[in-house]
Amino acid sequence: MPNVKGYITRKTMLYKTGVEYGDYTMNHVLGCAHGCKYPCYAFLQKKRFGSISSYEEWTEPYIVSNTLELLDKEIPRLKQKIKSVHLCFTTDPFMYGYDEIKDISLKAIRKLNDAGIKCTVLTKGLLPIELANFSKMNEYGITLISLNEEYRKKIEPGSAKYVNRLSHLHYLHDSGCKTWVSVEPYPTPNIITQNLDDILKSISFTDKIIFGRTNYSNEITSYTAHKSFYNHEAQKVINFCENQHILYHIKKGTITA
Ligand code: SF4
Repeated sequence: MPNVKGYITRKTMLYKTGVEYGDYTMNHVLGCAHGCKYPCYAFLQKKRFGSISSYEEWTEPYIVSNTLELLDKEIPRLKQKIKSVHLCFTTDPFMYGYDEIKDISLKAIRKLNDAGIKCTVLTKGLLPIELANFSKMNEYGITLISLNEEYRKKIEPGSAKYVNRLSHLHYLHDSGCKTWVSVEPYPTPNIITQNLDDILKSISFTDKIIFGRTNYSNEITSYTAHKSFYNHEAQKVINFCENQHILYHIKKGTITA
């Protein structure tokens, strides 16, 4: 089991996000050992603003040690305004192999739920099975952009295996929890040849699917057919979800004229 690199403190924890889906969010860890190479937008931003200097540093996470104290202070002030809290946009709440991060994330979710606040969760690690006993208003999600393990090792090197991610999500679904899958950032065929139908079939039990293109990558923009490819694949997702009665959301900029 890896240990976190260390601890930092912050002045605030809950904030309103401008991101397309999501209301409030919290990021109680700095860095992410999953080390995604899409590249990771959070890593690029932290590097740009100087809080991280290298990829290696990014993959050695620091826990915000005063997370629970901050929540105790902020929840009473904000709870009337908050519709939901998303964990997390700039790190991963269930970073693969990091029990200490898992523990603090579960405590944070418990605290938010106790105040009547719904949480949405997204991970490339394993969703803890304990979540089955948490509030049923929560929504639990995984990212799944492929089923090919060789590709995962290359692009999401520190993350959990796809098959294990799926089995934990399935367990929560079978326990009566709401589940969703983010198929984003979806790669173009010059990066990996795969069949989106196979991915969709593997997640047909979920309540919601989010599909989005890869941004910020030269490999994508150099693939001249990327617009028609994403239009075609997005339509596939829409047709699949409508047939299976699954909710869906196609991220902005994925379908273009
Ligand atoms: S899991 Fe998310 S936060 Fe972590 S490196 Fe990957 S994209 Fe970035």
